[in-house]
Amino acid sequence: MNSKITMTAMMFAALLCLGAKPKQEPAVVFNIDASMVPTKKDWAEKKLKPELESWAKNVVTLLDGKGAKWTRGDVTLILDPEDGVASAVAATCTIRLHRKFAEDDPEGAKGACIHEFAHIVQDYRPAPGRAEPYVYPPGWLVEGIADWVRWFNYEGKAGIRRANADAVNNPKHDAAYGVTASFLDYIAKKYDREFVTKLNKVCREGKYSEEVWTTFTKKTREELAKEWARKIGGRRGKR
Ligand SMILES: [Zn+2]
Repeated sequence: MNSKITMTAMMFAALLCLGAKPKQEPAVVFNIDASMVPTKKDWAEKKLKPELESWAKNVVTLLDGKGAKWTRGDVTLILDPEDGVASAVAATCTIRLHRKFAEDDPEGAKGACIHEFAHIVQDYRPAPGRAEPYVYPPGWLVEGIADWVRWFNYEGKAGIRRANADAVNNPKHDAAYGVTASFLDYIAKKYDREFVTKLNKVCREGKYSEEVWTTFTKKTREELAKEWARKIGGRRGKR
C-alpha cells in the first residue's frame, strides 16, 4: 500500500518536473503591439506570434546560412488599423500588419509576415563595414528573395505550386515576387543550393552587380532566365 502511494507520488513528481521544464526562448522574439487594433490582440498573441517565432530561425538560416545567429534583438509587430497589407522597416526591426488583411486572410497574413521578416533579415542599406558607395540591388530581386523564403520554403508544396503557376503565366524572371522566387529556386536547385544565401550576402554588403550571376553559376542572368523560362514553359498545362 505504502509503496503504491510512494510510486504514485513519484510519478506525480516526475510529471510536475516535466511540466516545469523551462520553455526555450525563441531565437527571434516577436512583440505584438495591438494597441491600435485591440480586437486582433488575441489572434496575434496566440496564433501569429507562436507561428512567427517557430519559423523565424529558418528565415535567418535560409538567408544567412547554417549556424547564423540572430543578434539584432526583438521584432516589433504593429497591428495597423489603416488599409493596406504588410510592410517592414529593417533598421528598427518593425513589421506593420494591416487589420483588414489580417481579418480577411489570417493564413495569408502569417505568410506575409514571413515575407516582411525576410526583408528585416535582408537589411539592404548602407551601414558601417558595407560598401561605399552602397549599391542597392534591384527591387525585383529584393522582393523575389523575400518571396523565395515565403513560397518556396515557409508555405511548403502548395506555395511552390502557386509561385510556379504564376511563373508559367508570366515567365519574366524580373517580374518580382513569386515569379522571381521561382527563377531563384530554379538556380538554387540546378546550380548551387547556397545560391540565395550567397546572393543575399552580396546584396547586403552593397556589392550587387550584374557579374554576381556569372560568379555563382558561370552563366549570365540572361542565359539563366532563358533556361528557366524554357523549363517553366514545359510545365504549361500541368498545373
Ligand atoms: Zn516585400
